[in-house]
Amino acid sequence: MSKTILIIEDNPLNLELTRDLLEAAGFSVLTAEAAEEGVQLARRMHPDLVLMDISLPGMDGLEATRALKSDPVTGSIPVLALTAHAMKGDEERAHDAGCAGYLTKPIDTRSFCQVVAGYLPGEKEDHARPK
Ligand code: MN
Repeated sequence: MSKTILIIEDNPLNLELTRDLLEAAGFSVLTAEAAEEGVQLARRMHPDLVLMDISLPGMDGLEATRALKSDPVTGSIPVLALTAHAMKGDEERAHDAGCAGYLTKPIDTRSFCQVVAGYLPGEKEDHARPK
């Protein structure tokens, strides 16, 4: 069964790009354009990984990560943070919120899926090969 990745991202172009890349690599992809919606989707669908945009309207990605991490239903799902506005201390804040890793936008489309796959629990190789 293919691994499922939930992308929480408010920018339609970034959402489309990351979804296309992950689907082309064989992942099943769920998407949410707001944090609240994404957190609910994670509780319901229990994806294998969450790709979390940090800057979101309303509840931001750090808050959403804390919400996921403090819930026993979703607490074990790795969260990979994505941000366009990398500033000093951001990475530390992301880790403090419970993110397993931190990527800066624009993403490197060649290595993206491999990097994401590296944060999946268990199998790392299956979806990691770029096409
Ligand atoms: Mn955003």
